[in-house]
Formats: sequence, structure tokens, C-alpha cells
Amino acid sequence: TDYLARIDALNPALNAFITVDVAKTLAEARVADAARAAGTAGLLTGVPIAYKDIFCQQGWRTSCGSKMLDNFVSPYDANVIERCRTAGLVTLGRTNMDEFAMGSSNENSFYGAVKNPWDLAAIPGGSSGGSAAAVAARLAPVALGTDTGGSIRQPASHCGITGIKPTYGVVSRFGMVAYASSLDQGGPMAQTAEDCAQLLNVIAGFDERDSTSLERAAEDYTRELGQPLTGLRVGLPREYFADGLSSDVARVIESAVAELRKLGAEVVEVSLPNTELSIPAYYVIAPAEASSNLSRYDGVRYGHRAAEYGDLADMYEKTRAEGFGSEVKRRIMVGTYVLSHGYYDAYYLKAQKIRRLIAGDFQAAFAQCDVILGPVAPTAAFNLGEKSNDPVEMYLSDIYTLSVNLAGLPAMSVPAGFADNGRPVGLQIIGNYFAEAKMLNVAHQFQ
Ligand code: GLN
Repeated sequence: TDYLARIDALNPALNAFITVDVAKTLAEARVADAARAAGTAGLLTGVPIAYKDIFCQQGWRTSCGSKMLDNFVSPYDANVIERCRTAGLVTLGRTNMDEFAMGSSNENSFYGAVKNPWDLAAIPGGSSGGSAAAVAARLAPVALGTDTGGSIRQPASHCGITGIKPTYGVVSRFGMVAYASSLDQGGPMAQTAEDCAQLLNVIAGFDERDSTSLERAAEDYTRELGQPLTGLRVGLPREYFADGLSSDVARVIESAVAELRKLGAEVVEVSLPNTELSIPAYYVIAPAEASSNLSRYDGVRYGHRAAEYGDLADMYEKTRAEGFGSEVKRRIMVGTYVLSHGYYDAYYLKAQKIRRLIAGDFQAAFAQCDVILGPVAPTAAFNLGEKSNDPVEMYLSDIYTLSVNLAGLPAMSVPAGFADNGRPVGLQIIGNYFAEAKMLNVAHQFQ
């Protein structure tokens, strides 16, 4: 109830939550109390959690930040929600996000922009900006987000919290509204690496209802926390510290690296030569997959349907024209274009080849180091409205986050300091496949 009171007081200014339902929250809290009384409580029983509005949750509106799903109440739980429910976590509400997770500033939501709790003039980052703002403002102790091209790490960085995008396939995508299926991955957002590790213990695991879910033995993501860093080889990619990185973000990252060196880490320079190509490759592949995934919103089965229309084709057209916002329409147009006959080879196939090169770059780098460090974004949070009329400018700000998703690697953001304007700056830690526990320990050293 402390958190509910804070949401009541602060959410009107932050707009971090789309839906809060006090009666449902209290009912879940009673179930947690009963488990405690019965002696069946686990470590996280009764811990409140906020869910990005992209995870289907039975009985709750699951809008995905879109007018298209404004009236959609999910009849079932996403796998991660099911796992959190079983662990006894209590739903505080559903957090705001860029429409269908497309964006880097949370300005693309049908429910309005989210404000950054550190500075209400700043964007919180996106697309999981509601979850990041909620944790940063202590409206929730932990939250779930999703990351297709940076949407957990970038808002975590801009809001001064910790967030981790696991290796692709570690967390089930079942019941998570699809944006770009080969890139999407859910993950924890919290104040600390330790809290992220505890939550990852709950949500990770095989799920037969997601065909890309990996069948692996369960692991304890807290197991390396507190271990010494002596001998850890930290790679700094030359391309991440070149033109385009603002000097104050560079200063914060350099002092974080110096800190780790003091703790015994060994620093090596590595190279990720195809970094620049991650932007065009991602902005071909993600819209291509999105255009296919979003074809299901046709006004027939669920979601928005235009009130007046002629024939069936007219119904589809009006429904989609009314239901989708402008960024989503832009992505659908780009996606259908790059997949169309005659252009497929020139764009989509090329992008897939670049994707393979980027994955290869990382493997070459990991032959020389254990983790890669760098910035999450070129600058600290920019102002609301600053880039919203220039999509390309917005896409360029994703330069340090996209390649990780193209390669399917785990990566996280941990608070590392502040920019000259006082806004938070996160350090990005990128690991090889399944190196989550090691990365969480590196992040833990800052806390
Ligand atoms: N900013 C990127 C995009 O708009 C990434 C978003 C995400 O990770 N969901 O596609």
C-alpha cells in the first residue's frame, strides 16, 4: 500500500502507469499473505512488481501502448507473468511504453509521453520508459521490460536504474506482444544488479509454447555476486569511443572502467568493425518482422474496429488507419517495402548478412575478453520533443544497443554517474551467450 500511495501521488506527473487496479493488487497481496501464513512463501512472495503493458495478463488490459489494443483485456497470462504469479509477486499495475515497443523516448505512446523522474523536461528513454520511470521514482521496487534493440538498457540508463536483457531464448516470449520476434527478449529492471538477478531467477526457463525458448538446466543468477574481479578481461570496443559519443558520457564510462581496473580487472582494446551497419540492418529487419507480426490487427478478432466502413477491405483499412500511430505505420511501410518482390535481395537479405557479420565481430572480440564495456547511448536523456519530429535522428541514438540484439547476446545497463546536465548515465556491460551471472557480478561492484 506504500507503493500504491506513491503511485497515486506521483503518477499524474510521471505518467509511468497506464493501468492501476487497486482491488486486483490487494487481492493478490492477500494471496501472498496467506502463503506467508501457511509457511509456503518464497523469497519474493509479496514483493510488488510493475509490468510493461506488453505482457499479456489475465483480466488486465494489455494495450501495448496502442489505441489498437486500448479495449483488449487479455484472457491469459504470458509465461513470465505466470512465473511471477507462482513466485508470489504482487502486480502493482501496467506500465507505459512506446506503441508496440517502437521508439527510444516513450513519446510514441497512445497514452502520452512518460516523464523522467530526474528531470521532468527529459525523456525517460524507451520503449520500456514507464517501467524505468516507475522503478527510478520508487513507484515499484522491480519491473519487467522488453528489449528488441535497447528498450530495457536505454531507459534504465536514462533513469539511473539497472536493467538486463538476457541471452535470446532464456526468457519465454509466450504472451509477450510480438514486435520483431527474432530480436525480442523480456528482462528485469530494478535498482540493483542483485534485484535483477533474483527476478531473472524467477522469469528465466524453458517454455514449450515459445519455439525459440532454450532448454537448459536452471541456474542461479546470483551465484557470482561478490566474487573478486581479479583477472577479468574487460574489452573496450574502439568503435564505441569514436565520434558521436558525447564527452560527458565518455567521462563517466572512463571513470567506471578505471574503477574496475582498481578492482583487478585487466583492460584490453577490442574492435567491433561492423557497429555502424547495425543501424541500417536493424531498421530493415525489425520493421520487416513487425510488418508481419502486426498484420494480425485487422479489426476482426480483437482490438479496435472502425465504427463505419463499406466492405471488408475498407474495414481493414479504416481500422488500421485509426488504430496505429504514425511511427507504427512508418515501420509497417518500411517492413512491407523491404520484403516485397524485387527489393527483398537488396534490403532484407543484405541485412541478414550484416547480422551474421555483427555476430562474428562479437565472437572475435570475446576471444580476447570476458565482457565488453561501453556506453548505452551517445548522450544522457535528451529533452521531450527534441527528436520526435526526426525519426532518423532518433534511430541513430540506438547505435550502441542494436548490435547486441542482432547477435542475440545478453547485455545490461548499470548506473555509473551523471552527465554535465545532472542526468543519469549508465554503463553497458555486454557478455557472451549465457554470461548473465558474470555480467551481474560486474554491475554489482558499482553497488
Ligand atoms: N529504439 C528501437 C526501436 O525503436 C528499440 C526498441 C526496443 O528495443 N523495443 O525499434
